[in-house]
Amino acid sequence: MPTIFTHPVVALSGSCFFRRRPSIGLLVAGAACTVLPDLDVAAFYFGIPYEHPLGHRGVTHSLLFALLLGLAAAWLWRRFFEPRRPFASLATFFVLATASHGILDAFTNGGRGVGFFIPFDNARYFFPWRPIQVSPIGASGFFERGWPALASELWWVWLPALGLACVGRIVSSRRTGLLGTTSASRKRSGGTSDLASRSK
Ligand SMILES: [Zn+2]
Repeated sequence: MPTIFTHPVVALSGSCFFRRRPSIGLLVAGAACTVLPDLDVAAFYFGIPYEHPLGHRGVTHSLLFALLLGLAAAWLWRRFFEPRRPFASLATFFVLATASHGILDAFTNGGRGVGFFIPFDNARYFFPWRPIQVSPIGASGFFERGWPALASELWWVWLPALGLACVGRIVSSRRTGLLGTTSASRKRSGGTSDLASRSK
């Protein structure tokens, strides 16, 4: 896996596509979605083999898990925090934030691959090109061997994420942002879009 510092970077850069600037709480929730899949390291302590669907990089790294967690997170966020933020934009944000975890893992040069299609296909997958240095599991391993991994992530993840954030700000400042409604629909809906709220 990339380090725990790097997965949230994807959510932060993706949040730049929101037309209405996200709150700190929404950023934290998105960041949490990017790291939640690695809770499956607990499988090691329960004796579950790596290759098992419930093992590390198994079901919690699947696209189905990303979809379900993302939809649930979007529903909960609207229900308890921002009922006026469009569900589609929240769901897109949370689903992609969660899915980004497995995608980044599949670019690393260690481990056993990612179970993208569990429970339909238990095979583990890597991308053909794997430039990211895998990070050791656990804090002690990180302080001993984690720095080369972090350096590799700065180049292969943080830098592209910065570019993505710039694209997001440009796109979201225009009329048809990806994670919000258009100014035309804002007028039709009486000013309840992301853009409307941002301008307040
Ligand atoms: Zn992982």
